[in-house]
Amino acid sequence: MKELLELRKQVYEQIEELRKQGLVGSSLECHVTGPFQDWNIDDVLDVLIVSQVEIAPELKVIPAIGTKCDRCFKIVPNQENCSRCIRE
Ligand SMILES: [Zn+2]
Repeated sequence: MKELLELRKQVYEQIEELRKQGLVGSSLECHVTGPFQDWNIDDVLDVLIVSQVEIAPELKVIPAIGTKCDRCFKIVPNQENCSRCIRE
């Protein structure tokens, strides 16, 4: 978990940059790519408090594309309800 917290620090620095540029309002409006293959994606989403996580060699934060879920305020890729909220 320690490494994940280290990655979170880097992710938050990038989110802060996007916020300054007015591209996102909060971390929940972000889509993060990075080397998260060692963790469960749901855990990564919870630790980073972002909407979308994708596994990639390079750490990068971009504004998430999609529709905001009415219940958890995460951005889901299409008009369908958020898969997480359906599961609960
Ligand atoms: Zn939801």
